[in-house]
Amino acid sequence: QFETVGFIGLGNMGFRMANNLLKAGYKLTVHDVNVNVMKMFSDMEVPTKETPLEVAEASDVVITMLPSSSHVLDVYTGPNGLLQGNFLRPRLLIDSSTIDPQTSRKVAAAASNCVLKETKDSWEKPLMLDAPVSGGVGAAEAGTLTFMVGGSADAYLAAKPLFLSMGKNTIFCGESGTGSVTKLCNNLAMAVSMLGVSEALVLGQSLGIAACTLTKIFNSSSARCWSSDSYNPVPGVMEGVPSSRNYTGGFATKLMAKDLNLAVASGKGG
Ligand code: NAD
Repeated sequence: QFETVGFIGLGNMGFRMANNLLKAGYKLTVHDVNVNVMKMFSDMEVPTKETPLEVAEASDVVITMLPSSSHVLDVYTGPNGLLQGNFLRPRLLIDSSTIDPQTSRKVAAAASNCVLKETKDSWEKPLMLDAPVSGGVGAAEAGTLTFMVGGSADAYLAAKPLFLSMGKNTIFCGESGTGSVTKLCNNLAMAVSMLGVSEALVLGQSLGIAACTLTKIFNSSSARCWSSDSYNPVPGVMEGVPSSRNYTGGFATKLMAKDLNLAVASGKGG
């Protein structure tokens, strides 16, 4: 349904997700404020643009994968943002960043105040989905992410082939903002389990048991979780995870701190 895809935010996650869209045969146009990453795409002969607005002008659908709410607001509603001029080519906008549900709803409302340059599939207005992901950089690379999606059911069905080019699970959560709510709940649970596994592995090692031995026990016992069996925090226990490459190229601690603050703020009612 969508041939031309715009992608904005090509960092640890977005870079790999965009690559999987290319492999699936979509025609991509990209933008990032990081000139080095833009060069990597222009070297692959993928068109790069200077602003989100220029990406919108070249795309039927635009996906964003940005660090936090302020970046999302800037890219959608700022000067030269995707919604500039309220007269849009993209019929669908998908934000996969992990942000607060209030901002997801605010941006979706701003999109619904725009009109389409060309109507198709009986859509009068651009539709927007909040579609954050879980799985980390390994899953982004392998195309096995899980998408949790909020917005209109029609938009979700239209977007599903795109999600399945970058992931293997897609779950529709409900109205706008519910994808972001779900993601904050997931990351709250994951942060607690990562802290527990990390503390237990440090305690065990300080009492003379190797991290590999402890991990083998955890993974066949009640402590087993993603943090022990897929993203082990101790260097050398697992191949291909950030801890085994000096903690580079993973999920930055400041992004997790952002998500926990968002969970606390949402728990207090925004
Ligand atoms: P990242 O910092 O590696 O990448 C973000 C990219 O956005 C960078 O390339 C940056 O230059 C670009 N950017 C920032 N502001 C911009 C702007 N105004 N216009 C255009 N580009 C801009 O972050 P990441 O690890 O890829 O994470 C992205 C989002 O995905 C975050 O919300 C994060 O919480 C979430 N997430 C990350 C992981 C992970 O394991 N890294 C897993 C799941 C979800």
